[in-house]
Amino acid sequence: MPEMLLEVERVSMRFGGLQALAELSFVQQAGSIQGLIGPNGAGKSTLFNVIAGVNPPTGGHVRFRGQAIERLPAYQRIRLGIARTFQNLQIFRDLTVLENVMVGCHSRFHGGMFAAMLRTPRMRAEEARMRDIAYDKLELLGMAHKAGIQAGALSFGEAKILEIARALAGEPTLLLLDEPVAGVPHGEVAQVADVIRRVNAQGTAILLVEHNMRFVMGLCAHIVVLNHGCKIAEGDTRTVRTHPDVLRAYLGA
Ligand code: ADP
Ligand code: MG
Repeated sequence: MPEMLLEVERVSMRFGGLQALAELSFVQQAGSIQGLIGPNGAGKSTLFNVIAGVNPPTGGHVRFRGQAIERLPAYQRIRLGIARTFQNLQIFRDLTVLENVMVGCHSRFHGGMFAAMLRTPRMRAEEARMRDIAYDKLELLGMAHKAGIQAGALSFGEAKILEIARALAGEPTLLLLDEPVAGVPHGEVAQVADVIRRVNAQGTAILLVEHNMRFVMGLCAHIVVLNHGCKIAEGDTRTVRTHPDVLRAYLGA
């Protein structure tokens, strides 16, 4: 049986009077790729924040490989193997592509600030190792030929792929992707899909939030649908596509 990687158990999130997530439960198996869809404001990004550790849920549990993690700080979750990208592009435009990915390696190394400033031999060795890991990730995603250029010079689609490479630098077993093709021009969408397939083929489980339905259905065998913070449907693409509550949520009927 495949290992249970993530268990979201009756998770609630309240912001003042607003119930952003209401007793939401679902699971994700190791190595799987799962879609998370729902209209704007459904609670998708809020759920990512709860899983990644931006804020603790106001109720419920998040288990990762059987361990309750909902009270752990974000950096500890990264070390356990959870990585994420953000809905809005978050790259350092003045750094090179390679340096942007190296930023993602820091969670795995422990040199500390003083060691970094003094450039101790140990620190130099760590930096060389980070460079290798970062380059490997760029190679996996077909971006190695852009390693030395400024991130600000990338196309929008390439910048979104760069964010995925940076998330991979921590060698996650679970990758949360928040709208990886939002704003990406039509001609670059297939390239991002290919990147996601490659990451998943390496064994990394992916939880994918995306508005582009064709994109989600093309990548995910299993999909969870949220509306107003509640799970209204889940299942294979066909089940979800034909579910009356899903149609109602999207068409506003
Ligand atoms: P989605 O990503 O599905 O579009 P979000 O998770 O961003 O939805 O938002 C869900 C709801 O929670 C929205 O009504 C949003 O305004 C609200 N919300 C999200 N984050 C906060 C916050 N930090 N403070 C207050 N309300 C928030
Ligand atoms: Mg969102």
